[in-house]
Amino acid sequence: MVEGRLSEEHESLRKTVEEFAREVVAPAAAAHDEAKTFPYEIIAQMGEMGLFGLPFPESYGGQGADYFALCLAIEELARADSSVAITLEAGVGLGAMPIYRFGTEAQREEWLPVLASGRALGAFGLTEPGAGSDAGGTRTTARLEGGEWVINGSKAFITNSGTDITRVVTVTAVTGEPVNGRPQISSIIVPVPTPGFSAGAPYSKVGWHASDTRPLSFQDVRVPEANLLGEPGRGYANFLSILDEGRIAISALSVGLAQACVDESVKYAKEREAFGAPIARNQAIAFKLAEMETRTFVARTAYYEAAWRMLAGLPFKKEAAMAKLFSSEAAVTNAREATQIHGGYGFMNEYPVARHWRDSKILEIGEGTSEVQKMLIARHLGV
Ligand SMILES: Cc1cc2nc3c(=O)[nH]c(=O)nc-3n(C[C@H](O)[C@H](O)[C@H](O)COP(=O)(O)OP(=O)(O)OC[C@H]3O[C@@H](n4cnc5c(N)ncnc54)[C@H](O)[C@@H]3O)c2cc1C
Repeated sequence: MVEGRLSEEHESLRKTVEEFAREVVAPAAAAHDEAKTFPYEIIAQMGEMGLFGLPFPESYGGQGADYFALCLAIEELARADSSVAITLEAGVGLGAMPIYRFGTEAQREEWLPVLASGRALGAFGLTEPGAGSDAGGTRTTARLEGGEWVINGSKAFITNSGTDITRVVTVTAVTGEPVNGRPQISSIIVPVPTPGFSAGAPYSKVGWHASDTRPLSFQDVRVPEANLLGEPGRGYANFLSILDEGRIAISALSVGLAQACVDESVKYAKEREAFGAPIARNQAIAFKLAEMETRTFVARTAYYEAAWRMLAGLPFKKEAAMAKLFSSEAAVTNAREATQIHGGYGFMNEYPVARHWRDSKILEIGEGTSEVQKMLIARHLGV
């Protein structure tokens, strides 16, 4: 099914990442989850494989592939460990991509080769303690003073922002008085370290234990005027367009988790016996499996279509929002059903489905909640 739809290059990449995820990522997942440690050794190997450079041209140290290739890699990694998958998604889609899309030649040359190598990570600082879904409510400010931006404020829940290899955070900040009632928000590149910038202690999270998520603080952080990313006042709009693409990648991640729940549950339901027969013989269980597989198939088809439209240069925002909405909810449902099929063992951390269950909920929240996706889809319907 999948193979019929993919080019030779895409299928070869998918297979390579599937094997890597099975042989390297999966065996380490439970230990990193339990200890809440960032998987540096795995990220380094992914860097060597070129995964952090997939959608960027070779001239910037990338692989010259495309965004769909990135999504396929994310899906395969999420079948083994969502924390590893989100580290790639955020590192490439949110950390490096804004610099590639909106950066000057000098900014691209400075940052993309090191980010594409995976030896350094970039982060995307949009959300604030008081501005999440309504990210236009940014309170962080940046004022020009003597050829430098002086940044003050804070950000919340920023992925990849405090690892030992984090080298850059791109932030949105208010840079002027509102025009026609609209806040003037720009995005600015902050190298790490810069005096006055600090990443707080990692949050204690329900899931994604091996992914780095922290609050950020900016106190009179000074960076050169040339660190403005894109046009002044366009920062919020530019970040929103990055999120449109990011939703396809989060959809791919959701599909990977949903597929892992199917795979684990089929295996378990065939082995586990109750009342003298494998539990899979009960239609109640077999139907759950059939529904889980169907949800995964439809979710995958949705993100393939959204990615195809994006690469073909067609409008894709509605399709990306629908793919994200459907697949994140499919992942949460599959994780809940997988836990149910595993009975009491599904509540034990030694079974991967317990981790998938904890890792799934954020998919309905990050990069736009399900409600935000519905708002976007409804807007496309003209309501
Ligand atoms: C683990 C993790 C990693 C993250 N990584 C990043 C990152 O790297 N960079 C970054 O910038 N952000 C990141 N985020 C932030 C994430 O994008 C936000 O949490 C998300 O957008 C929701 O914002 P909020 O938490 O402020 O919720 P709120 O916006 O306060 O929403 C609360 C609830 O109200 C609902 N709601 C809000 N407005 C409406 C409305 N108009 N109509 C209907 N319902 C509404 C929401 O859907 C939600 O259910 C991350 C979050 C987490 C938890």
